[in-house]
Amino acid sequence: MAEENQQRLISRVWMEAALAIFVALTLVAIVAERFILQTGFTVDANDGMISVYNDSVDGGISTSAIIDPEGTEWRCVLADQALYSYCGFELIFDQARVDGLDLRNYDRIKIWLAYEGPTETIRLYLRNHDPVYSDPERYDTTKYNQLEFDGALATGAPLEFSMHDFFVANWWFQRQRLSPEMAHPQFDNVIIIEVQTGSDPQPGPHWFRLEKVEFTGQVLTSERWYQGIVGSWLGGALLFLGLRIVRLNRELRRKSQRERELLEINSLLDQRGRQLEQKAKTDPLTGAFNRIGIEGALKIGLAERRRAGRPLSIVMLDVDHFKPINDTYGHAVGDRVLTGLSLLVQESIRSTDLFARWGGEEFALVCQDTDLRDAAAIAEKLRLKIALHDFGNEIKVTASFGVATLGVRESLEQMFERADQALYQAKEQGRNRVVVSGSQ
Ligand code: GH3
Ligand code: MG
Ligand code: MG
Repeated sequence: MAEENQQRLISRVWMEAALAIFVALTLVAIVAERFILQTGFTVDANDGMISVYNDSVDGGISTSAIIDPEGTEWRCVLADQALYSYCGFELIFDQARVDGLDLRNYDRIKIWLAYEGPTETIRLYLRNHDPVYSDPERYDTTKYNQLEFDGALATGAPLEFSMHDFFVANWWFQRQRLSPEMAHPQFDNVIIIEVQTGSDPQPGPHWFRLEKVEFTGQVLTSERWYQGIVGSWLGGALLFLGLRIVRLNRELRRKSQRERELLEINSLLDQRGRQLEQKAKTDPLTGAFNRIGIEGALKIGLAERRRAGRPLSIVMLDVDHFKPINDTYGHAVGDRVLTGLSLLVQESIRSTDLFARWGGEEFALVCQDTDLRDAAAIAEKLRLKIALHDFGNEIKVTASFGVATLGVRESLEQMFERADQALYQAKEQGRNRVVVSGSQ
């Protein structure tokens, strides 16, 4: 029991420790959400193929060239022409223009860009490929997610923007003739990062150096993160309840098993008690009642018997000259004679009669509902039977009998005393006879 309590205590300590850890983890998950979920990566010239372009594809006469073949430094000279002048730089992640970067988890972009020249604004494109509207064979069918900012900001120090600030270039959207739901920026498959001269291009030389571009964001959205936290609490609660049900069930089974064992022990003890009680009332050699047993049996219902006037008689008998049998044949044979005599008497009496070994080679037979005359007749019958019986090895014994009936105001002890006296007289008168004590 103490062990069980201790185990319960230990499991409670564990549970409370687990709860405390869970609470602490939740607090950390909430407070440090930004740091835990934060993710980012950087791209530079090494991550793709670089190229520069200009308006010559539309028939213009602007020029452009990469200055540093290792890096991302380029210059271009925009022509003073009727045509819209532009030049730009591309970092292409997939030459086949199909398989790009998934930037959906990133909400900030940082670019390290330096610019010198007369242009007022610079454009930044993140070009997304989607089979819905993109044809890898046609260069400008990738979606132009655009951002435009003041060229003076491009000093080489990092410039940071939100990904939400991008918009889809209007000219592109109109040219593609797409349905309105396609008008929002898309970053699931960005195949090109592009820097271009802005909306109000100025003729002359322009110089650019793009060191790197960094994307930062969250591994999961905050919504998913909190759903995860709530989910783990619900999961934990379910697990806890499940374990508790299993444990209670096991405890219940153990308890009912213990109860069964106790019942079994109880019934064994009962049985043992009854056996001991029986033993206490019985003579071990002959199996007949002993003195305590017969007195107990006699007392049951005695008062009622007296009231009803039902007679009760006793026959005391003592084996004659038993000592010489022991002396002649040995104690074991003497025992057998006593057992045989006891059996002989028990065979000859009614089931309501009580037979007891009174001590040594002396026996008492209590005959219920039997008056003195009938008791004397029974004694005589028994005397004859014993005298004629062969107890083995032609051993013959006789017995002397004293008979008495319970007087109206007499105690059991007094009746036994009288029967004993009658038996004594039988011995005195020469043994192997019945003497009846006069009724009281
Ligand atoms: P009496 O006719 O006067 O009764 O003579 P007795 O020899 O029968 O009487 P006594 O009282 O002198 O001897 C009784 C003997 O019974 C003595 C004792 O050893 C023997 N006895 C008593 N109990 C037992 C027993 O359980 N087993 C055996 N074998 N002998 C017993
Ligand atoms: Mg005797
Ligand atoms: Mg005797």
